Amino acid sequence: MTRTLFAGGTVVTNLPAMATTDAIAVADGRVVALGDEARDWSAGWDEVVDLRGRCVVPGFRDGHAHPVHAGEESLSLQLGSCSSVEEVLGAVCDWARSHPADAWISGGSYISSILPDGVGDARWLDTACADRPVALFSNDHHVMWANSRALELAGIDASTPEPAVGQIVRHADGSPVGTLREFGAIELVERVMPGPDPEVSRAGLVAALDELARHGIVWVQDAIVDDTLLDTYLAAADDGLLTCRFNAAFRAEPGRWLHQRDHLVAGRERVRTHAAALGRVSANTVKFFADGVIEAGTGFLVEPYEDAPHSCGLPNWAPAELNEAVAAVDADGFQIHIHAIGDGGVRMALDAIEHAIRRNGPADRRPVIAHTQLVHPDDRHRFATSGVIANFEPLWAQLDPVMLELTIPRLGAARSALQYPIGSLVAAGARISFGSDWPVTTVDPLDGLGVAVSRQTADGRPVEGWCPRERVPMLTAIAAYTAGSAHQAFDDDRTSLGVGAPADLVVLGADITAMDGNEARDVGVERTVLEGRTVFRAA
Ligand SMILES: [Zn+2]
Repeated sequence: MTRTLFAGGTVVTNLPAMATTDAIAVADGRVVALGDEARDWSAGWDEVVDLRGRCVVPGFRDGHAHPVHAGEESLSLQLGSCSSVEEVLGAVCDWARSHPADAWISGGSYISSILPDGVGDARWLDTACADRPVALFSNDHHVMWANSRALELAGIDASTPEPAVGQIVRHADGSPVGTLREFGAIELVERVMPGPDPEVSRAGLVAALDELARHGIVWVQDAIVDDTLLDTYLAAADDGLLTCRFNAAFRAEPGRWLHQRDHLVAGRERVRTHAAALGRVSANTVKFFADGVIEAGTGFLVEPYEDAPHSCGLPNWAPAELNEAVAAVDADGFQIHIHAIGDGGVRMALDAIEHAIRRNGPADRRPVIAHTQLVHPDDRHRFATSGVIANFEPLWAQLDPVMLELTIPRLGAARSALQYPIGSLVAAGARISFGSDWPVTTVDPLDGLGVAVSRQTADGRPVEGWCPRERVPMLTAIAAYTAGSAHQAFDDDRTSLGVGAPADLVVLGADITAMDGNEARDVGVERTVLEGRTVFRAA
């Protein structure tokens, strides 16, 4: 039995709510004592970690991310640091030149605000690479920017009808500009791209595991898996590679969900009966997209867009069909996880969850609405009354270029000031969880915590914080990234570092518990412990 004592700093236990102590003893993968009792517990330590004033927090749990895609993206053409169209074109050109055998050039996470109105032209990409197809994803992953060859291979031209859930941005003559919004349009290109490759997927997961461990993350809600990805997780479990635990979400699609039902249940059972995955991988969740994103004009709003008075955005489902699909999947025993960004999307998601509750009766469901960017004030109380978890990506609650140049002009001032109502939902009694939506934004929980408490950009703007009433105290923010996501995961034995709980914990480079500003973003992870085993240690 391995015995470790962590003492000499602050230990956040979440027990009772948001409590702290000064020592924690771990033996055989579990917490065995706290505070004075921990120091007295046994003299026979294998290791005593002197915290020297630093702190221990429960392991971080990311309530919404795409880790394998993020890992894959980190191994492919990366555009997240490009600050202009010219830089993107240069990166595409360099990549194409150094990868002459690649049939397609694809890359990810260009910042959408570097393009005028978020719209990229195929002809610009043609100047970087014209002989091979190029398909790039925006940082929100709801928009694809393609070159002429990619559009041609996908058969997209002036005669292509508008997809049901998507938008082909067009010139006045109907020909495509090169920007495709939402999956109905994006899949026109994706279906002619090379399919998922198990080897690439495996490499992506391996890269992701490394990043997750170094950022103190011990559980992730993978927000969309397909069969290839599920196989990747199970194979990694067989090989003993998983230094983080995962719950997978299958995606239910409008018009297809009825035919998907049996396959989803079979996928969940395949994971449940895979012995090596036990305790490491589950697949208990089904994901729905209620709408798109506000910066692309596809988030569904209750009232029309400020810059497009004819449009309320793009709901991905007819409300009646979403109600039916959510109730059916709920009856199959899945947890519901709905992407909802605009106040119309959030309302539609709440309606569907309440419909399922009425239809199927009381149960321990823990439904999740992810992102919750804009919540109509009339709907705030519904999270608590219906037991809906609001999953926020706190890093997004800042005045970054996408917010300033695309989102605020589309929403107008009044609605802009209602975004990411973390403080208001906490005050309304809602349960909240935090996540990153990695690779949409960085996976680092400390960046998210810094913004949750400050509502400031990395360089400290605005001084008083953006919508300062929505700031939350650091311990509330830590609880959302730990206990809140553990509740979401049905990991009731891991919502706190109480005696007997699995020892999932993180040693941070400084005591963040009293920080109320962005300085938390500079605090590194020194050690990550999963079930008593150190899976990362800073050099
Ligand atoms: Zn996502």
